[in-house]
Amino acid sequence: MRDHREIGQALDLFSFQEIAPGAPFWHNNGMVIFKELEKYLREELDKNGYQEIATPIMVKKEVFEKSGHWEHYRENMFYFDNPRDEKEHLIIKPMNCPESTYVYNSTIRSYKDLPLRLAEIGRLHRNELSGTLGGMFRVRQITMDDAHIYALPNQVKKEVVLFIAMLDRFYALFGLQASYVLATRPEKALGSVADWDKAEKALSDALAKARKKFTVAKGEGAFYGPKIEMHLNDSQGRDWQMGTAQLDLVMLPKQFETYYTAEDGSKKLPWVIHRAIFGSFERFIGMLLEHTDGKLPTWLSPIQVEIMNISEGQMKYAGQIAKKLRKKGVRVKLNNANESIGKKIREAEIRRIPYIAVVGDKELDAGTVSVRWYKEKENKVMPVADFAKRVLKEIKEKAA
Ligand SMILES: [Zn+2]
Repeated sequence: MRDHREIGQALDLFSFQEIAPGAPFWHNNGMVIFKELEKYLREELDKNGYQEIATPIMVKKEVFEKSGHWEHYRENMFYFDNPRDEKEHLIIKPMNCPESTYVYNSTIRSYKDLPLRLAEIGRLHRNELSGTLGGMFRVRQITMDDAHIYALPNQVKKEVVLFIAMLDRFYALFGLQASYVLATRPEKALGSVADWDKAEKALSDALAKARKKFTVAKGEGAFYGPKIEMHLNDSQGRDWQMGTAQLDLVMLPKQFETYYTAEDGSKKLPWVIHRAIFGSFERFIGMLLEHTDGKLPTWLSPIQVEIMNISEGQMKYAGQIAKKLRKKGVRVKLNNANESIGKKIREAEIRRIPYIAVVGDKELDAGTVSVRWYKEKENKVMPVADFAKRVLKEIKEKAA
């Protein structure tokens, strides 16, 4: 089973319903994964000097007229007239970029305020054709781990180095190796050649500083700036473009007049880095489920330990262990159903529970548990306290 939709069903993570094409219904187990990823992300944002913002999902059309999306991207957007005010035309945002500039412009910025890193876990909607929708890989409702870094041109290199370190830390958690591509100036490009040269150098210097080998995709940058793409190779040998750092030399800053006051008192436009670590939560979770065949690292698993008793005699003991682990913050399921232990184990394996802890009379007498870890074939018998310690350590370290 390697289709994330099947894995999602087996693990009770999410479902797709006819009433909402291209938008998943997250069940509680799926939300656990989602929340753990958000938590990880927010810790990283805090440690790296980002500010988290949240901008409206629905805004007036003029925002996306100004950004050029209305002209060039209209069929990909959901928009409507306010039935209570025919002069008010509204758009459900397909991206966060334009709105971040309103936060930037909410006060006067000086060069001393830069770099300003505005992050948003944004809920976006894009009007994909219903025939092209497919599980988590092509959705209409997208949750992006987005950020816009407003920086002085000479700050870009350092910002990108910091960002690459964030990518490294994140993908190492899953034992995934990243490769990098630098996409450079296309034939039709906005901005001066001198700026482009400087921008491309900043990105390639950042990659060198981070000791990353990279290939150059000549002429494949966006018309408003070069970008770095991070690619992954999953366990199926597939290539995924995940992280990006897109440099924006002219578009967003110019359209939305995001000035700062320079040291000499003049007004200047910063460069903007649009960057995302995994791009979309939906796509990343789908990829991860297929990459791991649903065997998520323990810290991400909706249920981390399932405790089961062999017969009624150990029901109370199993309950006590479950309670003890829960108190320590472990996500535990107690399975004291009156079924054969073989069946209970098989079902827990289908649900990819990292730790299956079985208790029979022997374990009850000795104060132990018989533990099966999903990455090992052998069962290990250990005292309950040791088991708890091992699980907690693994969760804390976010071991792969
Ligand atoms: Zn953006």
